Amino acid sequence: MYLEKNLALVKERLARAAAKKSRRPDEVVLVGVTKTVPVETIAEACKLGLTQLGENRVQETLPKMEALPKEISWHFVGHLQTNKVRFVIPSFHLIQSLDRLKLARELQKEAEKQEVAVKALLQVNIASEKSKHGFHPAEVEEALTEISAFPNITVLGLMTMAPYVPDAEEVRPYFRQLYELFTRTRVPGVYMQYLSMGMTNDFEVAVEEGANMVRIGSAIFGERKE
Ligand SMILES: *Cc1c(COP(=O)(O)O)cnc(C)c1O
Repeated sequence: MYLEKNLALVKERLARAAAKKSRRPDEVVLVGVTKTVPVETIAEACKLGLTQLGENRVQETLPKMEALPKEISWHFVGHLQTNKVRFVIPSFHLIQSLDRLKLARELQKEAEKQEVAVKALLQVNIASEKSKHGFHPAEVEEALTEISAFPNITVLGLMTMAPYVPDAEEVRPYFRQLYELFTRTRVPGVYMQYLSMGMTNDFEVAVEEGANMVRIGSAIFGERKE
């Protein structure tokens, strides 16, 4: 019951934020972040139409994938250790957290071995926070150029996590900056299709600043315990 209400409310807030910038609600992809959420609850959300799901731990996700409908597209949104790459490649639809060149090299090696193509977003550490992973804004173009030479990886855009602040208005300049980078960067072989920014705390501001993909956990599933 609460799920249906929460989901409807999130969609309504998303639509309102999109409308402020004259965009249709369906121009923004809603990814439900299901880390720590039990399988039964995810199955319910799936029935309500939420089929793009984000997870940040490989071990936690693989059993969920087994138990849940195949129509779900799984997004990896966590810091990915290179020794987990071989599990992630066949099962995730989009790796949103390509945050270092070493990871790109490992993804390429493993994707070549498995003879598949990998889709990814480049993670940008937009506020240059020590506690966060990702490329600094000034490194983005060079990183994309380097990664575009890897035949089995296709980069489809950028992802960021803004600093956590009580008032989301404070991070508006960061979202604006990433949108700028998103629209300005042109690297052959890189498709700037998705700008993934905005979480429970700040998704409306992110959408107003041009996000076309948001990753929302607690506003849909409730507060996480950890
Ligand atoms: C947990 C997480 C989210 C969702 O966080 P909420 O604040 O619960 O919406 C989004 N993106 C990433 C990368 C996360 O780790």
